[in-house]
Amino acid sequence: MMNLKLFNTQTRQCEELRKKEDFFGIYCCGPTVYGPAHIGNFRTYVVQDTVLRILNLLNFNVKYVRNLTDVDDKTIRGASEQHQSLRDYTQYWINIFNRDCQRLNLLPPSLEPRATETIQEQQALIQLLLEKGHAYVRNGSVYFRINSFKDYGKLSRLELNSLQTQEQNSAGLSNDADEYDREQVADFALWKAYKAEDGEVFWESPWGKGRPGWHIECSAMSHLYLGKTVDLHAGGIDLCFPHHENEIAQSEAAYGSPFVHHWLHIAHLKVEGQKMSKSLGNLLTLDMLQEKNYAPEAVRYALLAGHYRQSLNFTFDLLQASRSALQKIQTYTLKVLERAQASLDSFKAFMNSVTLPETCLFLPDFFESLLDDLNVPKALGCLFSFMHKDVNVDQAQMPQFLREWAACLYSLGIVLKNEDVSELIEIPLPVRRMAEQRWIAKQARNFKEADDIRHILEQSGWKILDSKESYKIIPMSS
Ligand code: AMP
Ligand code: ZN
Repeated sequence: MMNLKLFNTQTRQCEELRKKEDFFGIYCCGPTVYGPAHIGNFRTYVVQDTVLRILNLLNFNVKYVRNLTDVDDKTIRGASEQHQSLRDYTQYWINIFNRDCQRLNLLPPSLEPRATETIQEQQALIQLLLEKGHAYVRNGSVYFRINSFKDYGKLSRLELNSLQTQEQNSAGLSNDADEYDREQVADFALWKAYKAEDGEVFWESPWGKGRPGWHIECSAMSHLYLGKTVDLHAGGIDLCFPHHENEIAQSEAAYGSPFVHHWLHIAHLKVEGQKMSKSLGNLLTLDMLQEKNYAPEAVRYALLAGHYRQSLNFTFDLLQASRSALQKIQTYTLKVLERAQASLDSFKAFMNSVTLPETCLFLPDFFESLLDDLNVPKALGCLFSFMHKDVNVDQAQMPQFLREWAACLYSLGIVLKNEDVSELIEIPLPVRRMAEQRWIAKQARNFKEADDIRHILEQSGWKILDSKESYKIIPMSS
């Protein structure tokens, strides 16, 4: 019986995910909706999507909750700058996020609750923490008392003392007056008292009007939808501390049960070797890449190219290589379907409901690598060496092979195209124009000009293949 093994940040070991009788609950910290998500955020979501796809292949009954953080300093500031209500402002960015998720072929979560839709539950949780002595009220704000929770720091393995000093240093830089109301600098806000900057954004509460702190929403929503213990909780590595540590403290202090069985953290994405940040001007979004003629399919493939526990360096070379890898997979699939005399449409429908066979005959090493802590780079290596061998599957074994092939493509979230494969590569317009110019020159027996243009095209990564009647433009790497 095959199972997915993943590294658990809590135990620092790879552990198997086990099927459950009722449902397997996954909670992922979703986006803060104040702008377009960048491809770094999407690395995290693409890896989570791969886990979901594998669990579907293994026939787990997954309940997958991914929240939307639609109230915090940034969303409030954005709405006020745009003279919009918080609801309208965040709805706009939620729509953009959902559109991008679709473009990346991310499976939709079972539930995608907004923080502002569960204020009551968050307040009830804060009340429970107050009653149990884990929280205290100061000037209309409520804070979690981390000294009251002896396991604080167990996930990130940070010592409380070092936290106090770390926080003291950063508190010195903070000009937020209410930060000084805390008993201990490392205590964190569960409820934030209303400030003038909050404008129209506030909720009434037993502690006065205000809004929730960031961490409380995840504890409240995971409890509401998935119960006291979540089977798998995921997010980018930056969330490990303090966000996830605080979620643990809130949930375990309130409900007295382990909050999470398995913690999954995804390492960061860098761009051309640098940290992605607004100030460096290297934040990339799907729209920006689309403008440069890189389809979201290629971006998805590139985001999966490295192991999720190592930071991934996103480069245009990687994108280019991803594009050509996808083309090879598409071409190979069409060839396979022709041999099997199966239609592309029926295969695509099959892909969406396929499960992994008990025993794999054709791609065992692909699935073994994938199930072994999501070793996608190794799995892709196995996939390409398999395609390279071009095994001639006999008709008796064809159903088994098609099942494995469908499962493989499904796990990677590959979208098969109906059009001719050459359509898969988006050739930039200037490249097409130059190729056309070269063809005309060649027809006019103006070989010097034709060769010069070929040379320029090759330097920008495009090869021209001539036939008698026409020509084809293909990327150099293929
Ligand atoms: P945010 O919208 O800032 O709350 O982030 C949404 C998700 O993206 C979180 O799980 C973050 O940890 C993750 N994330 C942020 N930056 C990166 C990055 N450069 N690479 C990978 N994941 C990231
Ligand atoms: Zn969270």
